[in-house]
Amino acid sequence: MEIQKMYIDGKWVESASGKTRTIIYPFNQKEIATVTEGDVVDVDKAVKAARKAFDSGVWSKLSGSERGRIVTKLGDLVEEHSEELARLESLDTAKTMEESRWDMADIAGIFRYFGGLADKDAGLIIDSPNPNTTSRLVREPIGVCSQISPWNYPLLQASWKLAPALAAGCTIVMKPSEDTPLTTIRITELALEAGVPAGVINTVLGAGNTVGNAMATHPEVDLVSFTGGIETGKKIMKAASDTVKKIAFELGGKNPNIIFADADLETAVDFALNGVFFHAGQICSAGSRILVEEAIHDKFVDALKERASKIVMGDAFEDSTQMGPLISAKHREKVEKYIEIAKNEGARLILGGKRPDDPKLQDGFFYMPTIFVDCKNDMRIVQEEVFGPVITIEKFKTEEEAVKNANSTIYGLSGGVWTADQSRAHRVSSALRMGTVWINDFNVYFVQAPWGGYKQSGIGRELGSIGLEEYTEVKHIYQNFDNKPINWFGK
Ligand code: NAD
Repeated sequence: MEIQKMYIDGKWVESASGKTRTIIYPFNQKEIATVTEGDVVDVDKAVKAARKAFDSGVWSKLSGSERGRIVTKLGDLVEEHSEELARLESLDTAKTMEESRWDMADIAGIFRYFGGLADKDAGLIIDSPNPNTTSRLVREPIGVCSQISPWNYPLLQASWKLAPALAAGCTIVMKPSEDTPLTTIRITELALEAGVPAGVINTVLGAGNTVGNAMATHPEVDLVSFTGGIETGKKIMKAASDTVKKIAFELGGKNPNIIFADADLETAVDFALNGVFFHAGQICSAGSRILVEEAIHDKFVDALKERASKIVMGDAFEDSTQMGPLISAKHREKVEKYIEIAKNEGARLILGGKRPDDPKLQDGFFYMPTIFVDCKNDMRIVQEEVFGPVITIEKFKTEEEAVKNANSTIYGLSGGVWTADQSRAHRVSSALRMGTVWINDFNVYFVQAPWGGYKQSGIGRELGSIGLEEYTEVKHIYQNFDNKPINWFGK
């Protein structure tokens, strides 16, 4: 198999060590690619190339409209190649083709949105206390950005970082997850085709504790943007602190979905299923914690179980498949540990809780849609992110109890509230300490709306105009038109 290379300083290269990594299709563990495996020395070359490109002004000093034209063109190229990219994404992650096609349509829109924003910021004139002076604020690109993305939405997450960084005029060292590098390699080629100059994007491949760590510590990096697990986030925060880098983090969630008795039950059940079984629950915004008002609890649980038990698992490339496997053997073991923890804590399993028996699924990392009832707020299965197809259901009596429990985890990424009472919808959405709250909906995100977390779910925001600002510094420029001595000293 041909070795897929990294892109550093305008060249496709193999790693200095010559090591490689095999990439597999999680549905059947068949080898789909061999990629070069980078190390610390490769990161050093990539960062130096990004630094040189940034300081040269080849990208940062282009007009916003010229950068915007190229970033928008990259969106057009993603659309043109969307079927090919979707296939690569489904091979890498085993998510259904339908989901990957959705992702690609989103990604094209992300590049177009940030391409469109690239020439919109004209700075700001602010009031100056002194006569014959002006004071203005300008936004400048922050510099060299390390961008580390996860395996659940490989190209989508990379694009949430790449598009605003390019639009702002930054240069980039990006690393996909070692499990899912294929679409990140391909978009690097498309970015070159769109006209991004050599050195502006550097794509490195390899493990988190070597390549990722070097990207977080390298003294010539100005910002580290990371999406992934909370423990990794803490390590990166420490690594980046030696040189006081800016950081932008999205660290997942344990997202409550609160269903009141007056909600439209059929719709709430439908969205609860989407909220957690999409991509087998490997979504930072998965609505894995469902809180249901006592009066409708049993009806809700019956309806949810009935529909969840019909979910069809299978090959990403078969139209009948609704849910694929988990990403890896290691990740499935993590999910299985949580199932044991939940049982020991007293949660009652009413669906799943095991690998499927279907012989066709035995080579993949499949895990059955799983539902626990009788869950209590202090259980680990309720408090910690499982990142699998696992729902916990808690019963509540009052609005206050629902809000208190929903807010009780270390996370604060997103949450949902289902009710026909508009004042209650308003009260609860204000009381939830989360970056996004959906009312009578779940898991909706789009490029115009900022995305990110309160509490330990993250630092900063991606998407929206705020997502562009993350990649800038604000400079105050003060100019005196009345140039004469003030004679404070020595007279
Ligand atoms: P991870 O946090 O270990 O990996 C995410 C990215 O960080 C990968 O590119 C990885 O190579 C890199 N990385 C790992 N260690 C690093 C280090 N020390 N320094 C710099 N970069 C490093 O995530 P994972 O192992 O893929 O999954 C672990 C858990 O993270 C999951 O079970 C899930 O709970 C969570 N997760 C969350 C999201 C999200 O969208 N928030 C996405 C993926 C995983």
